[in-house]
Amino acid sequence: MVSRDLVVVGGGPAGYPVAGILARDGYNVALIEADKFGGECTNYGCVPTKSLLHTALTLADSKKLGFSYGELQVRSAFENALSVASTLSDGIRSVLERSGVKLVEGYGRVLPSGTVEVNGERIEAGKGVILATGSEPFIPPGIRVDGIRVHDNRSILGWEPDDSQSVIVVGGGYIGVEYSTIFSLLGYRVTLVEAMSRLLPGMDRDFSLLARRILAKLGVRVVLSSPVSQVRSESSGVRVLAGDKIFHGDIALIAIGRRPRNTEALRAGLPVNNRGFVTIGDCWRALGKFYAVGDIAGPPLLAHKAIHESIGLALCLKGDQFVRGQRPIPQVVYGLVDFVSVGVTLEEASRKGVNAVEVRVPAGGLARPRIHGVSDGFAKIVYDEESKRILGIHLAYPNASETAPAALLLVNRHTLSSALDVVFPHPTFSEVLQEAILASLGLHAHVSGVRMRRARKTE
Ligand SMILES: Cc1cc2nc3c(=O)[nH]c(=O)nc-3n(C[C@H](O)[C@H](O)[C@H](O)COP(=O)(O)OP(=O)(O)OC[C@H]3O[C@@H](n4cnc5c(N)ncnc54)[C@H](O)[C@@H]3O)c2cc1C
Repeated sequence: MVSRDLVVVGGGPAGYPVAGILARDGYNVALIEADKFGGECTNYGCVPTKSLLHTALTLADSKKLGFSYGELQVRSAFENALSVASTLSDGIRSVLERSGVKLVEGYGRVLPSGTVEVNGERIEAGKGVILATGSEPFIPPGIRVDGIRVHDNRSILGWEPDDSQSVIVVGGGYIGVEYSTIFSLLGYRVTLVEAMSRLLPGMDRDFSLLARRILAKLGVRVVLSSPVSQVRSESSGVRVLAGDKIFHGDIALIAIGRRPRNTEALRAGLPVNNRGFVTIGDCWRALGKFYAVGDIAGPPLLAHKAIHESIGLALCLKGDQFVRGQRPIPQVVYGLVDFVSVGVTLEEASRKGVNAVEVRVPAGGLARPRIHGVSDGFAKIVYDEESKRILGIHLAYPNASETAPAALLLVNRHTLSSALDVVFPHPTFSEVLQEAILASLGLHAHVSGVRMRRARKTE
């Protein structure tokens, strides 16, 4: 039996920050990882998809500007994405080692006593066990991922494109929308099948409409209100059954949703909700000396939420005050335009009893989107009609994911007037947000077609 102050189970975005911070602070920390350091995000999610998107957008830009470099080898785009992921994963390992974390490669079995078994060894955690075991793809009955023709987000990275020409993406959430953009920009015929009546369900309705319009412009066939019940791999391709519709393609990517990887949470006897996520209280404490952060602790299943929680937990364990659940978590979808939501929508504000106003400006009037040849997009700002406090920001333009001031304006409780103190560099994409703030005060300079909506409180 080995004794440690803290045992972190899972080396993804929820596990590695807290492990490194506390080891540098003098804690004796072990981090157990069954697969690759950096977790789903670095190795199979955020990083490889954004690398693929970067390649696909570069290709599209080059074509638009009339450059011709010959054929892109699609497999090499995937190899490049894997290589970037691997470099970052190695970097995370190295930072952890230099921080003094004891890294253990193997699968950790977590016992209710707070002991973790790994590779036949028992590690006893004196001060805490941190569950950061993440999530995995949800694959419903009727669908079998074979890694040849039917893929999930992991197996697709090893895909050998051969002479495939068409891809069926099952699921119109952010993973499905991002991969549909990537595949279509890489030259594939894409059909996107979604069960709900709109893409990006759960996000701002205008995002759904714009995502659909952009995908349609790319030539993606978007099929809504069509729950997929069966995906069958056949000798010549895949056959996808959705209601009474049948779709044929060369391969299918299943991106229906994620579920918590909670085997160890359940073994340890931690409380879980009806969707299987660990329920947590103050400072991410689940029970006794057990803590849970990241995807395993519930939605939104996003890496920056996992990292934020991991840092918050480190501060909590060091004795600093850090109140959980007060910070707005940006929702982000990447593509030709990025979709970013932080704070509430107009409808959510009115459900919370606020007299709210939404002001929307088009992105096309601003310089930077035009320089990049994009005319689609907008910025919306939602504010309290009485206090003029900013309650929500919803952005859809290229690189909107880089508009960090959006979250700051909310966290620092800015009003429309105090936000005027923030000077946005010119020409930048983030000026679309600035224009929305200006338009809310009638001070806009670059756009016409400002749209204003009001919602009256419903409580
Ligand atoms: C295709 C795709 C694209 C994405 N893109 C984005 C994006 O652009 N931006 C964003 O914010 N989020 C994105 N995400 C979501 C993001 O990947 C997750 O929210 C994030 O990885 C969650 O971090 P985590 O540490 O909680 O879990 P994970 O990253 O899942 O890490 C958990 C780790 O724990 C390990 N583990 C599990 N059980 C054990 C055990 N018993 N013993 C030892 N090790 C164990 C696993 O091997 C894994 O490495 C994407 C996800 C996918 C699938």
